[in-house]
Parts: sequence; C-alpha cells; structure tokens
Amino acid sequence: MITEGNRIYNIILKNIASNRTLTMNKINPDQSAASAQLGQRSMQAVWHPCTQMKQHENHPPLPIARGKGVWLFDAAGNRYLDAVSSWWVNLFGHSNSVINAAIRDQLEKIEHVMLAGFTHEPVIALSERLKQITPGSLGHCFYASDGASAIEIALKMSFHYWQLCGKTHKTGFVSLQNDYHGETLGALSVTDVAIFKQTYAPLLRPCTHVPTPDWRYAETGESAEAFALRAADALERYLAENHAQTAAFILEPLVQGAAGMGMYHPVYLQRARLLCDRYQVHLILDEIAVGFGRTGTLFACNQAEITPDILCLSKGLSGGYLPISVAMATDVIYQAFYSDQISRAFLHSHSHTGNAIGCRAALATLDIFAQDNIIEANKTKAAYLNRIATKLAAHGRVKNFRNCGMIWAFEVDTAMQDFASACFQAGLKHGLVLRPLGKTVYFMPPYVIEEPEMDLLIDGTLHILDTLSA
Ligand SMILES: *Cc1c(COP(=O)(O)O)cnc(C)c1O
Repeated sequence: MITEGNRIYNIILKNIASNRTLTMNKINPDQSAASAQLGQRSMQAVWHPCTQMKQHENHPPLPIARGKGVWLFDAAGNRYLDAVSSWWVNLFGHSNSVINAAIRDQLEKIEHVMLAGFTHEPVIALSERLKQITPGSLGHCFYASDGASAIEIALKMSFHYWQLCGKTHKTGFVSLQNDYHGETLGALSVTDVAIFKQTYAPLLRPCTHVPTPDWRYAETGESAEAFALRAADALERYLAENHAQTAAFILEPLVQGAAGMGMYHPVYLQRARLLCDRYQVHLILDEIAVGFGRTGTLFACNQAEITPDILCLSKGLSGGYLPISVAMATDVIYQAFYSDQISRAFLHSHSHTGNAIGCRAALATLDIFAQDNIIEANKTKAAYLNRIATKLAAHGRVKNFRNCGMIWAFEVDTAMQDFASACFQAGLKHGLVLRPLGKTVYFMPPYVIEEPEMDLLIDGTLHILDTLSA
C-alpha cells in the first residue's frame, strides 16, 4: 500500500515539475489595466446571473477574451483551465475547429427561420440522429432555447397528454428531494434547492419531493444499491397513494448536479421506471446536465437500460456553443396530440425553436462523438484522473471523494463561511476555474482535457486546499 502510494506521489511530483513553466502567466501592465476596466464596465451595465452584484466591488467579473481547448484566456493574457466546462455546457473545448467549421458553413446558408410552417435540413437531421442514439421510441423532438424551457415543455406536455386522455385529475408532479430543473416558474416548482426556490415560493405550484437516493445520505455501512432501493420504496408509497392526481415523476438521473453532485445507484432508475408503468405516471428524465457522456455512457438512463416517456436535453447538446434544448417524447405521447382538432395540438412555441445554427453545432458535436469514439476515450481519461487523485482523495479535509464518468466531486471539511467564493478566487490565482457548490468542490472538465492538464488540475486543487486550510 505504502509503496503504491509513494509511486503515485512521485508521478504527481514529476508532473508538477515538468509543467511549472506552462502555468506561468506573463502579465503585461497595459493589458492588465484594460482588463480591469472591462470588469468595471461590466459592473455598470451587466446584471450577472446567480450573483450578489455588490460582491463584485471586491472582485469584479473577469473579462475573458478568448478560449482554446480547456483554456480560457483573460484580456490580460492569463489562462485558466475551465474545470467546470463553463457551467457544465462545454464538451469538446472552446473554439473547437470541427464545430466552428459547421457553424461557419451554416451561416452562409440560413441562420434562422421560424419552425412553424417551415423546416430545414439541420433540424431534420438532428431530430433523426437524436432518435437513433436515444433508447426506446423517443420519436419526436420539440425544441426550445435553454434547459428550463425544455422542462416547461415536458411538464406542459405531460399534463396536456393526460387531459387529452380524459384523466383530468392528473395535474400534479413529483420530483426528488434536492433535484434541480431550472429557474423559470414551472421548472422551479419541481426544483428542490432552497437558495433558488425559497424567495419565490408564493409564485410556485406545490410539488412533492420524494426522498433522494443520493448515497451521501445513507446509513453508515449501507451500500449505494440498498440505499437506492430504500428510496425507491418511498417513491412506491407515494405513487400508490397519489397516482390518480400525478401526471409525472421528474428527476435528474444518476447525478443531482446543483445539489452538489449527489451520485446514486442506477437501480433507482429501474425501480422508478417499473413504478411509473405500474401507476400510469410519466417518467421525465432531465438529462440536461448528465446527457452526452457526462456519466460515462452517452445518456445516464443507458446505465439502467430504461427509456423515459420524455427526455430533456440541452447544455452539451450544441457542444456548449449555443442555447438550444429539446424535449423528446415517445410516439405514444405524440399520437395523443395528433388529431383533426387544432385544440388538441401542443400549441407551445419559442421564437428560436429549432435554430439552424444551433442544430448544426449539435450535429457537429454528434459527429465528434462518433468519429473520435469519445465514450471509450473518456474511460481512459477518467481512469488516469482517478489514479492521480489518490492524494487528493486522502487529504485530511476531503470527504466523500466520488466519481461518475467525467464528473468528480468531494466535500471540504471547513468552517469557512464563504468557502465557495474563496475557493473560486484562489482557483483563479492558480489558473483554475473551480466554482464550488457550497462546500462541494467538483471537476467537470471538457472531454478534450489531456493528462498534463489533469495533473495541473489535481496539483492546483491540492495547493488551494492547503492554502485555504492554513
Ligand atoms: C442547468 C440545468 C437545467 C436548466 O438549464 P438552463 O439552460 O440553465 O435553463 C435544468 N436541469 C438540470 C439538471 C440542469 O443542470
């Protein structure tokens, strides 16, 4: 054990030594002043998301001038490893040549045309491809612009389906404790993350949240599978009693992202599928964050070998380039709306539905998956990161070090009140973009990350933990 530990430790040291020069940022004072000025202008004119703007008095937003691969470059020329894939959206790096070329090509043809009454090759091709690569018979793609809008579509579609079937009491939704589905009012109703939800509670529809299978909440000695089955029993009790009033069960499969990358056993999804079938409740899977390879399979639901009734995708769909999302529905749902009566149609719309440039970015993204055998390549990368992370996992302040596909997370044992922002600032100093969720630090790097970059990530994180603990 000790020898193995030392061996890995030595490898880490060697890599640190060989990469030191790579991390040096050359600061040009003129560019630095220009960068600071941009930060100030942003504070005057831009209202930044998920931000108490007054905190920017101490740390103005960092102006990014360009990106390449896993790296972001600020206006002063410093570089930062994008370890959170720009809020979980980026898959194949910034300024990816394949996606850039597809977008340029599309720009010369048609940038956008309304999808009501019109169609175009990119939206048709993308819908056909998505149908092919998703499990089961998710035969119909309804597009929107962002994740929350795809959730709104899924909720309205499920409700409307039951109305059309004469089951008019099925108006309720159930989701998982700690689930996150976005922040528009419908999506926020089925979300269970207090900091986003509390203030707006009077505006929201009531929604039940059944116990989470997130393994961090298990009893000591309880396996992930046993705990997931126990959580599924709670779902069963809920549905047995309330199915007549329930339209759908919506959940984040395998990883509850915003809750702090809570990971759970796929057996929960299998049980959820069985229960939803038994009680005639739609199963809506929100794979907005976990779809497209994040959990180690193309879709998280592949690991449970199940098909949802509605599947929501966004974030990585366009490689993280453009705001595009989709709610994919089964043929059964689609058929219920198909009628001579206009009133039975799904009369929902967004101005940018099926945007042609977004669809081309998505098609290029799917091409990369196929051509570069990404799912297999990621297994090798994940194994390497796990190998070099042994010292981090064993760090005195690190708890629950965990990994699922291309997501890593751990809790930091600290009394620091503002740990998340302190860690973010310390990360920038070390050339890393880390954005902890409370006391949970996570890595969700673009899939183009290479071994020396993973070394920098682990080395930098260890430094940051030691600095913040001191
Ligand atoms: C990000 C996210 C959403 C919302 O997507 P937006 O594009 O931010 O509206 C919904 N569900 C999950 C699981 C997400 O991670």
